[in-house]
Amino acid sequence: MKFFHSVRWRLQLWHGLLLVLALAGFGFTAWELQRANQLGRVDRELEERMGIVEGAMKPDKPPADDRSPQPGKIRLSPREQNLFDGMPGQVFYYAIWLRDGQQTGASASAPADIPRPGQMPGPPVFRSRAALRECFHDTPSGECVLVGRDISDEIAGIRRIAWLLAVAGGAVLGLGLAGGWWVAARALRPISEISATAKKISAGDLGQRIRPTDSESELGCLATDLNHTFAELQGAFERQARFTADASHELRTPVAVVLAQTQSALTRERPAGEYREYLEACQRAAGRMRGIIEDLLALARLDSAGSKPVAEPCDLDRIVRETVELLGPVAAECDIRLDLSPARCIGDSGQLARAVSNLISNAIQYNRPGGSVRITLDGGTDDVTLSVSDTGQGIPPDDLPHVFERFFRADKSRSSAKGHAGLGLAITKAIVDSHRGTIDVVSEPGRGSTFTVKLPARPKA
Ligand code: ADP
Repeated sequence: MKFFHSVRWRLQLWHGLLLVLALAGFGFTAWELQRANQLGRVDRELEERMGIVEGAMKPDKPPADDRSPQPGKIRLSPREQNLFDGMPGQVFYYAIWLRDGQQTGASASAPADIPRPGQMPGPPVFRSRAALRECFHDTPSGECVLVGRDISDEIAGIRRIAWLLAVAGGAVLGLGLAGGWWVAARALRPISEISATAKKISAGDLGQRIRPTDSESELGCLATDLNHTFAELQGAFERQARFTADASHELRTPVAVVLAQTQSALTRERPAGEYREYLEACQRAAGRMRGIIEDLLALARLDSAGSKPVAEPCDLDRIVRETVELLGPVAAECDIRLDLSPARCIGDSGQLARAVSNLISNAIQYNRPGGSVRITLDGGTDDVTLSVSDTGQGIPPDDLPHVFERFFRADKSRSSAKGHAGLGLAITKAIVDSHRGTIDVVSEPGRGSTFTVKLPARPKA
């Protein structure tokens, strides 16, 4: 059954059930209090008259005429008699039985067939018989005295109240259910909105967002969080698409070089020297392709979910020294100054060496002729800070936020001519991120740039 799975119906069912229980409890209590109140009033009247009847049975009661009352017989004054037979609309009656069960007296208003109550010494006992309310008890001398009254009016009144309570309860239930339905519909409206938006997004419209109705409510917060997630996903999809396009574009150039060179070499017979030149051009293009593919593979590995770097103690100062030594031939024109203090961190020394190498080779690459590179390393108990400063061309402020993006090159034509694909800093950032570190850059065009990497010295929880 579909509606048993609907949250709205389930809420409505629970709400209805609780409302019915609360109204029934309230109605029953109100009805019971009213009934007890009415019967209590009748019972007090009965007790009062029971006292009068018992008083009239006492042998020492002054006789209403010259004779003394016999056991089980009573003598009521006319005023007392009036309390039983003479009140229009409120007919009280009494009946008296001897110990042996024989009825010895009854008022004229008493019904003919009153069953004798069982022996009941002690305080008066009350009972209801059809539309009659009766009070009885045994006197010390053994007679049973019963006083009663017709309570049809009270029963009709109690029934009226029961009907009133039922009608009022029904109205409140109806209103409560309608109100609950409206509140549930309002509260759950964002869910329909979320579901409609999710459907549009899954159909390919990534720009769709949920219109949050009440951003303070739980569902409003959920809508805001989902919108944030959708924006992240859209960004990731767009980055992915751009990345694929950029990768294809980067690979297209060396492939075009290989095709053009081979085509041109094969147009006619050539001397061996010329073939060699064509082959060398193809080799350079293939080497460039290999570089790009290796970088892409490195990024894919770093991106893959769950990939964690090896966590081994690394001497960052040793890594920096070795990298500078390796780059020595490239850095011939640069004055590289080192200011290294011993710094240990936890991570993958191979990946960290690649990140350090990217930063230092950029500082050399984008430096001015005769410029200098300063590398400082500070080892702390919590963090290790590496900074690479150069005296090069710097990075324009507009480009600064993009330098860590994949395939970004501030000066496209110059960089690609030198075989730079714009993946170095993206790889460096991915490595630093995977080590739970941070990387920042400050740059002043014409004066130089400083890249600062912070890595945790201890594994982070
Ligand atoms: P590339 O392979 O092109 O060097 P990177 O990702 O290493 O790719 O760098 C991206 C871009 O950032 C470079 O093309 C360059 O424009 C800029 N850049 C990186 N490092 C420096 C630096 N030290 N000085 C000036 N510009 C830099």
